[in-house]
Order: sequence, then C-alpha cells, then structure tokens
Amino acid sequence: MRDLSTDTAQLSLNAATVRKRWNLSQIIDGCARHGIGGIAPWRDQVAACGLDIVAQQIKDAGLRVSGYCRGGMFPAGTAAQRAANIEDNLRAVDEAVTLGSECLVLVVGGLAEGLKDLSVARAQVDDGIAAILDYARANNMPLAIEPLHPMYAADRACVNTLKQALDICDRMGNGIGVAVDVYHVWWDPELPTQIARAGRNSQILAFHVCDWLVPTSDMLTDRGMMGDGVIEISKIRNWVEAAGYDGQCEVEIFSAENWWKKHPDAVLKTCIERHQTVV
Ligand code: ZN
Repeated sequence: MRDLSTDTAQLSLNAATVRKRWNLSQIIDGCARHGIGGIAPWRDQVAACGLDIVAQQIKDAGLRVSGYCRGGMFPAGTAAQRAANIEDNLRAVDEAVTLGSECLVLVVGGLAEGLKDLSVARAQVDDGIAAILDYARANNMPLAIEPLHPMYAADRACVNTLKQALDICDRMGNGIGVAVDVYHVWWDPELPTQIARAGRNSQILAFHVCDWLVPTSDMLTDRGMMGDGVIEISKIRNWVEAAGYDGQCEVEIFSAENWWKKHPDAVLKTCIERHQTVV
C-alpha cells in the first residue's frame, strides 16, 4: 500500500466538491496552487468555460484528469430518446479525449419515467454501453462504470454493486472497467472479493473517496469529508491497491450544508490533510 502521508500528487479533486463557490477555471487554479495532482471536471462546467480553454488550462497547470463526469444515463421511454442519449455519450467520449482524461465515468441511469421494471432499465444500460464501446475503444478512452448505492437505483443508476458492474464488463470485453467509490460500495459484504476479481483483469479505473455520515440527512448532498464518517477508507484503498490499482484517489464530496458553504481554499486544505491521514 502506498504511503500517502506527505503526498499530494496522488490526490485528485472532483470539481463538484467546491463547485458552488468556484468556477472551473478557479478550481483548476486552486488545485495547482495547493499542489493537488489531479482534477475530475463535470461536463456542464466544461461547457460553460469552453472545452479547449479548459483542456489547455489543465495541461498548463500540470494536472492529471482522473476521470470525466460523466457519461451514462442511458435508459429512456422511447427509442428516439435512447438514441439521443447514446449520441450524447459519444460527445462525452470526444470531450474526455480532448481533456486527456484517464477514463469516462458512467453513471448509467435508472428507471425511465413511468416504468417500474428494473430489468428493462438494466437491459437498456447494457444496450447503451454496447452502442458506445467500440467508439470509446477506437479513441482509447476507457469507460468506467460507477456502481451507485442502491438508494439511487430508481433515478440515477440501476447498477448498484461492484459485482453487477463487473458482470457487465465481462460481457462487454476490453476497454471498460469500474470506478470504485467508497461511498457507494462500502457496505457490500462482497466488496473485497469483487475488488480482487476486478484486479485480475485490471478493471479498476478510478477510486473515489468521501465518507458516510451517521446520520445522513440527505440522499445526495450530505456526504462527509474522509474521516468524519464510518467508512474504513484505508482498508478499502489497501484492497484496491493490492488489486493493482495505482491511480489517484479522487475526493468527491456533495455537501450542501457543510463543505459547499466553506471557503474552497479551506476545503482543499482539509482534503489534503485527510488524504494524508485517513485515506
Ligand atoms: Zn464517485
């Protein structure tokens, strides 16, 4: 397991962590100023700043792009909308390539409006991924399926465990893997087994960290800073690194009532301190 006790290079900042108070250009500057080694930008922020401008600024700052947020959201009630979703994912691949991202993160989507059959949604996810994978391979852009906690199965992602995500990867072949986010998978009794399985095929493409607060007051926007909750983050990092993962640790904190209200410079300082002590 790598020693992170003085490290900032292996730390990446998911831009959502500070996006309420800084635009993407300020976030890139902030990462560079604090010596943070990477960034994970979101499509809407990139569009607002301009893709080529962002790509150049990230390059000039010497940052890695640990992942691009995000592709996915495949299911829909009509064939026309599903086709539009696939087209949108192809553009996300293009943008990820321009940014030099290490992967395109897929939050696959949940139930189409009015539907209750999760098996339909999951089949639509398979179809959507299959429809973009050749293009992603041709552009050397790995796709990283991010399984989300089951509380998001209806509206965000009907892929909810690492096993389920890896089963998709195994059906699809090369060019696709997983993003392991401790917030979504920490509770899973199969987690060590499935991380080891992913390692055998080099399928771990990203590692995201934050913490699970007790109690949690909001399903989406009450994520904790590493060390403030109940996830054994360093234990999971140990499993992930034992499985061969040597990429960055990406901090991704949605926190409407706490971290999003603080000054971003203070948030980044805390991210660094916790990265070095509890990740
Ligand atoms: Zn994540």
